[in-house]
Amino acid sequence: MDENKTKVLIVEDEARLARFMELELKHEGYDVVTAENGRIAIEKFYENSPDMILLDLMLPELNGIEVCRRIRKESDIPIIMITAKGETMDKIAGLDSGADDYITKPFVIEELLARMRAAMRRSSMDRSAEDENILTLKGLTIDLSKRTVKLDNNEIELTKREFDLLAYLVKNKNIVITREQILNRVWGYDYFGETNIVDVYIRYLRTKIDDKYKVKFIHTIRGVGYFAKDEEQDS
Ligand code: CA
Repeated sequence: MDENKTKVLIVEDEARLARFMELELKHEGYDVVTAENGRIAIEKFYENSPDMILLDLMLPELNGIEVCRRIRKESDIPIIMITAKGETMDKIAGLDSGADDYITKPFVIEELLARMRAAMRRSSMDRSAEDENILTLKGLTIDLSKRTVKLDNNEIELTKREFDLLAYLVKNKNIVITREQILNRVWGYDYFGETNIVDVYIRYLRTKIDDKYKVKFIHTIRGVGYFAKDEEQDS
């Protein structure tokens, strides 16, 4: 199998339709794996790690919705459901189970190919959105979706508030942020406590990051606020 090709798992119990799709997709330059029932679909999913699944709804052993649910627990791979005419309720159930799109039989191959391209585009857009969820500062890596902080691959345990504060500083790295801005963004505009809470939390962060790793990430501008500095420090 060619690693550069998009690998598609076709799950379809109508042998003629499965064969037709397989030939058309191979002709379009896809790698194809097929499964004729829901149980085999799950097996082939694990064996082949496909890039996309075309999943018939009415299948022997496990139906398409059940297959979709199980795969969704493991992966956010694009899944296009294939439904028969008139299965309107099932379409909705299909999308609820985590399918990205559906196509109704009988379909023309061009429409299937267009939907496949759209689903792949959406999934690569999702991947680049994931990259935007990663912030870095020197050796520090902050994953906003997993809410983890690592320094040179050592995970640093932070409380929710410490994490939000660090993420806010690093998002705005090299920019001085006032205590009020920090309060508004990290504690919320309805926070009415002491403003020195910011200083307290900056101290917590310094203990966990700056002091422990002997690198100064968080800088103070007296009377103004704080900032996270990216370049080597010169003072
Ligand atoms: Ca079927």
